[in-house]
Amino acid sequence: MNRAGIIGAGPSGFYAADQLLRAGWEVDLYDALPTPYGLVRAGVAPDHPKIKSVTRVYAKTAAHAAFRFFGGVTLGTDVTRDDLRQRYSAVVYAIGTSVDNRLGIPGEDRPGPYPATEFVAWYNGHPHFSNHQFDLNGGRAVVIGNGNVAIDVARMLVLDPGELAPTDTADHAIEAFGMAGVREVVVLGRRGPAEAAFTNPELRELGELKRADVIVDPAQLEDVEVGEVPDMPQRRNVEILREYAKRVPEGKTHRLELRFLRSPLEILGEGEHGAVTGVRVSINRLVPGSGGSIRAEPTGEEEVIECGLVLRSIGYRGVPCAEIPFDEARGLIRNEGGGVVTEDGGRCPGEYVVGWIKRGPSGVIGTNKKDANDTVARILEDAGAGGLPTTATELADSDAVAAWLGERVAGGPVSWAGWEAIDARESALGEPHRRPRVKLVRIAELIEAARIAGPK
Ligand code: NAP
Repeated sequence: MNRAGIIGAGPSGFYAADQLLRAGWEVDLYDALPTPYGLVRAGVAPDHPKIKSVTRVYAKTAAHAAFRFFGGVTLGTDVTRDDLRQRYSAVVYAIGTSVDNRLGIPGEDRPGPYPATEFVAWYNGHPHFSNHQFDLNGGRAVVIGNGNVAIDVARMLVLDPGELAPTDTADHAIEAFGMAGVREVVVLGRRGPAEAAFTNPELRELGELKRADVIVDPAQLEDVEVGEVPDMPQRRNVEILREYAKRVPEGKTHRLELRFLRSPLEILGEGEHGAVTGVRVSINRLVPGSGGSIRAEPTGEEEVIECGLVLRSIGYRGVPCAEIPFDEARGLIRNEGGGVVTEDGGRCPGEYVVGWIKRGPSGVIGTNKKDANDTVARILEDAGAGGLPTTATELADSDAVAAWLGERVAGGPVSWAGWEAIDARESALGEPHRRPRVKLVRIAELIEAARIAGPK
């Protein structure tokens, strides 16, 4: 039987696993963390439990007899690319895009303009970020970017404690949000209301916040003709924003403002390296760009928005890993249609890629299903054509793989049963508080909970 090693147990890794299992393959799914589910656990906003319920689908995949989970195994540290290529007919990288894009403006390196990636990971209890400190004392926060991540972080900053309480937000973040001094969040888009990348439900949700008025200056929509907005989601966004612009603020304790046509020029602060005091922005106009696109151009006018916190949310990018061919310009594993290729276009037989590290950080969770299906179709085609370097008969038996990992990882990797033990522990901690779970946020606690299950 062919066997695949999939690296990364987020949505794209699970969709690839499911497809390969259906094709009769054995699948070993690896993750650097002791826990599965990638951004569903550590990225999706905790007040969106319906989105998180997709994990039930992944748990069904994991129940397949030919599936194994190896948690707590890091590619590049515990195991090498060669180790994997020797042990699998196909290695599928599903490692996501783990860092954020930078603005490249003065002041970005002072403490305080935080990457949204880290803020999101922190409030979601990702163990690598649970010790981070975010200064939430300033009265006004500025969020740079007009995507759904920007909306998520802006919303989290103004959620009512009652809205936060029934969620699986990490306890350290619930406590910090409870003491936060942020009363106003300004979300900045460099282009206009019709170009924002928000999806409609996420934008609509801002109008339903318990303790925050949503503020949109009607002047920003004056030049926008709904009928001329080409795409339906963007047209709806404009309609939603028009409705917000008509609202009279109810005098809620918090405000969330959506301000468009603003590009950050400089993060201002105390002295050269001191805390953030504001953002200097250029006021833009829209002009036609290449290929029918619309781009922002500075008008020459500027404004300063005073604030004590800046969150940068302008998209994610991947980082090079384990000498897998990497396209620096795009921040992705170099690939053609899901097959890993070298810089000169040569195929790396038996190596594949799925998800954000294949196509970039775009789309919703379900987008990864089609994406993974396409890569798996390619794997099966290559297998049928004899194009995989290690055939099923040449593979070491599956027990040998487990034994090898047992030597590589102190205490051995976390099995699926180990994850189930973690899950049970977290759920039990949450139950008395009517929360889905209380997350364990340190590697040692997670491993300890997993060990109750013993090795699989
Ligand atoms: P995104 O949707 O690509 O949005 C990035 C934003 O950053 C855009 O508004 C972009 O503006 C702006 N930007 C880029 N470079 C900039 C610069 N130098 N200065 C100012 N602004 C800049 O990325 P994301 O918000 O990180 O989301 C990633 C993916 O996850 C998206 O597909 C998103 O829908 C998805 N997601 C979904 C949910 C959900 O379904 N609830 C939640 C979170 C994330 P331009 O358009 O002008 O380039």
